Amino acid sequence: MATSIYLDNNATTAVDPKVLEEMIPYFSEHYGNAASLNHRFGKNAAEGVNIARLRVGNLIEASEKEITFTSGATEAINLAIKGVFNRYQSIGKHIITSTVEHRAVLDVCRYLEKKGAEVTYLPVNRNGQINLNELNAAIRKDTILVALMYANNETGVISPINKIAEITAAKQVLYFCDATQAVGKIPISVQEAPIDLMAFSAHKIYGPKGIGALYIKRKNRRIQLEPLLHGGGQENHLRAGTLNVPGIVGFGAAALEAQKKMLAEGLRLKELRDFLEEEILKIEETFSNGSISDRLPNVSNITIRFLKSEQLMAKLGNIAMASGSACSTGSLEPSHVLLAMGLDKDDAHASLRLSLGRFTTKEEIATTIQLLKKEIAYLRKQSPIWELYEKGMIK
Ligand SMILES: *Cc1c(COP(=O)(O)O)cnc(C)c1O
Repeated sequence: MATSIYLDNNATTAVDPKVLEEMIPYFSEHYGNAASLNHRFGKNAAEGVNIARLRVGNLIEASEKEITFTSGATEAINLAIKGVFNRYQSIGKHIITSTVEHRAVLDVCRYLEKKGAEVTYLPVNRNGQINLNELNAAIRKDTILVALMYANNETGVISPINKIAEITAAKQVLYFCDATQAVGKIPISVQEAPIDLMAFSAHKIYGPKGIGALYIKRKNRRIQLEPLLHGGGQENHLRAGTLNVPGIVGFGAAALEAQKKMLAEGLRLKELRDFLEEEILKIEETFSNGSISDRLPNVSNITIRFLKSEQLMAKLGNIAMASGSACSTGSLEPSHVLLAMGLDKDDAHASLRLSLGRFTTKEEIATTIQLLKKEIAYLRKQSPIWELYEKGMIK
């Protein structure tokens, strides 16, 4: 039985066939450089980019002028945080972020610490959420940026974005939001929340890899960013380099599809996710991680105590999932997100992230439940630690 089940949609998604179909002519026919406006090839490419920019902007209720295309969310995050620091460090060098951000944010912050930045890492509670009073109290006269994510990639926990943005706006500090997991899954409006900068990516929403965007608010005072790349002056001199036209067109198509499907898809996936989670939580010594009420509809992060999720995944080679461990310089480290939420190392290593997506079926979830139950029972039976637990010798 070679059934392959993909439950790792928070890592990346399949390209939607509709997206691929829209991209193909931009490889084969409209292959001009979008900056070569003196001939038809270039004009066609530029037209494709313009439409995509409108569609990507629409998905978050931004104007097309506020969208800068990058190679992905990682680059958009680098452009936002380094761009602000390099431009505003004469005003202040303090940045506020949290302990559960994606590594792209944390690694940029650590890098900037070496360049003279001072960074406050806000802690989170057991539900994976920061305390808004602590955020408010952490903002200083020399704070230039608050970087807090929209939805967590490991747990799906959604932050109180509107409240964060109110706090930063009141204190006149720039707010950058890594919205890579939230965009396309839940309704987002930069009109409602006064976010200044927001990063997201096509490949998490059924678009191609290697293309992302940074939203830069154009209202009120103009945000000045120092570019990372210098060259041909593309993207308003913010991001030099010939535009990735097929990628951008694919991003636009993915944004349009997401906008159309978001609500129905969210409801369908929540139902499947809840079913999956309820069934796994019937197994003894299991618990789910992250706020139940403020969570993306497609993710479940579950700790299955007294086993190693890497072992479980090796047993279930046909089901793509993610563990609560991350590979760092050759060794398996427990997830920094789960540790920040108060799990101990063993429980972090015993955690599993299941992320559903557009192409996940009910049958696949039923099969996953059945196989997970079987292998969990098998692995525990083999485990000396489980034996000790069953004898009541450990807790
Ligand atoms: C995937 C992801 C990123 C990185 O996005 P890329 O486009 O792969 O660079 C950043 N932040 C979050 C929350 C993510 O899920």
